[in-house]
Order: sequence, then C-alpha cells, then structure tokens
Amino acid sequence: MSVPRYWREIPERSRLEASKCATCGNVIYPNRARCAKCGSDSIEPYRLPERGKLLTFTVVRNPPRGFEKMAPFVLGIIELEDGSRLMTQITDVMPGEVTIGMPLEAVLRKVSEDGDSGIIEYAIKFRPTF
Ligand SMILES: [Zn+2]
Repeated sequence: MSVPRYWREIPERSRLEASKCATCGNVIYPNRARCAKCGSDSIEPYRLPERGKLLTFTVVRNPPRGFEKMAPFVLGIIELEDGSRLMTQITDVMPGEVTIGMPLEAVLRKVSEDGDSGIIEYAIKFRPTF
C-alpha cells in the first residue's frame, strides 16, 4: 500500500468508534466480539463522545520503542460525557500543567513515525479545552 493511500484511508476520529452491548448497554472500547460485563455477543457500533474530563494521569518518561521522541508525555484516564472511560494520551499541554478534573476534547495527532518506511500513524488524543 502506498504511503499517500495509507494516509487518506485513516478515517478521522476512527479511534472514537466503540461498541455498545445491546443486552446490558455496556460500552466496549477497544472493540471486542463479546461484552465483558454480561457475556452477550449482541454488539452494536457506538460512537464515543468527543468531550470529557481527566480522572487520573501519569507522566511517561520511558516510553516503548518507537515512541521515544514523544517523551515525556502524559497518559490519562478520562471520563467522557456519557460516563465511559478510556485511557488516552493528553496532548498540547506541558506535563506540569495537567490537573485532575480538567475538561478535554478529542483531536487527531501523530503517534509514531517509522523512519525507514515513512509511515506515520495517527490516533485520537485529548487536549485541554481552556
Ligand atoms: Zn452486556
């Protein structure tokens, strides 16, 4: 697959596509074939809200291979407007300026860059809404 095609085919906000259990209403993210709460396989597509608030966070100073250039970065657990929770990178803010309870919104940002192939991966991150 060519690099430009790879770029074009990454749908914006694709990472906000979750699933919802049709039996108990549990939101499933990342996607799985079964509901972890009730075991049902009756799963429907569900789009997560783009806004939430920060519940807790950690500053990552020694990231895994391929993410070294990003360090230090902030990894947070956020609660979205519908009450679902997800772990995500907090971006556009210095680690020292991050506070629990801060309002956040989803943005599309670069996550890694493969120097040999030139492939750049994008994903949803969250940034403060001041
Ligand atoms: Zn369920």
